Amino acid sequence: MNRKFLSIVLTAPLALLAGHAHAALRVFACEPEWGALAQELGGNLVEVSVATSALQDPHQIQAKPSLIARARNADLVVCTGAELEIGWLPVLLQQSGNAKVQAGQPGNFAAADFVRKLDVPGQLDRSQGDVHAAGNPHIQTDPRNIAQVAVALAARLQQVDPAHAGEYAKAQADFSQRWQQAIGRWATQAAPLKGVPVVSQHKAFVYLYDWLGLKEVAVLEPKPGVEPSASHLQGVLSALKGTPARMVLYAAYQDPRPSEWLAKNANIAAVKIPFTVGGSDGAKDLFSLFDDTLARLLAAGAKP
Ligand SMILES: [Zn+2]
Repeated sequence: MNRKFLSIVLTAPLALLAGHAHAALRVFACEPEWGALAQELGGNLVEVSVATSALQDPHQIQAKPSLIARARNADLVVCTGAELEIGWLPVLLQQSGNAKVQAGQPGNFAAADFVRKLDVPGQLDRSQGDVHAAGNPHIQTDPRNIAQVAVALAARLQQVDPAHAGEYAKAQADFSQRWQQAIGRWATQAAPLKGVPVVSQHKAFVYLYDWLGLKEVAVLEPKPGVEPSASHLQGVLSALKGTPARMVLYAAYQDPRPSEWLAKNANIAAVKIPFTVGGSDGAKDLFSLFDDTLARLLAAGAKP
């Protein structure tokens, strides 16, 4: 018997039992936050595959054959954009041979296209590090950005899967209401953080600071993506004598040692930020990602 026919015979009844009479829309998300958002908006209409974990550096991913195979089968690719994935996504999409998810197609969604970007360089100089040339790509650290991306992503889901447009619209309205309530709650909780001076290991938190009013007084990486040398760390330590900071922040995927060194020598707190869903035990979904982020910041550095 034909193998393909056999597999259809065997899997079809299971699919019906599971309530999947239709084929789910296959979403390939570059980072966990967009996978989580697609799941919030798509529910059981989508089948989400996430390319990276919170413990991987999203600037530096290998376009492995297993990832290429997943991109090949995708109906919609949801990534950050703003050149965050410039080192791996273009080759991944090209190798996938999947015409509908190439840049410029409805099946290719870049979240950063839908928010106001910070740190956009006045002039492009690749010698200043090459990872933030289109503006800072780490937009997911401000929940107001997530709200804007949710609206745009729901519209895109409706476009690529028009048969279920009403369901996506309903899910978006529901998510948006719950998210705005959460933003109000977070703003109240975070009030003591306003104006608190901080150091960043990587320029990964500019949107978080913009949202909460934290003040970045130093960055440990001399250029985005470049590990700090011992002399650069000493320089930051000296600068903090004149401009003290309350804490140093690093993302869950980063080597904590530069932050831990500064924390020890400047006698401040080193705070691991989950950065995305899965970056800590507490950050299980988009809501708890911000609950956990705020709890960590408040524990380390709220004004006395
Ligand atoms: Zn970066």
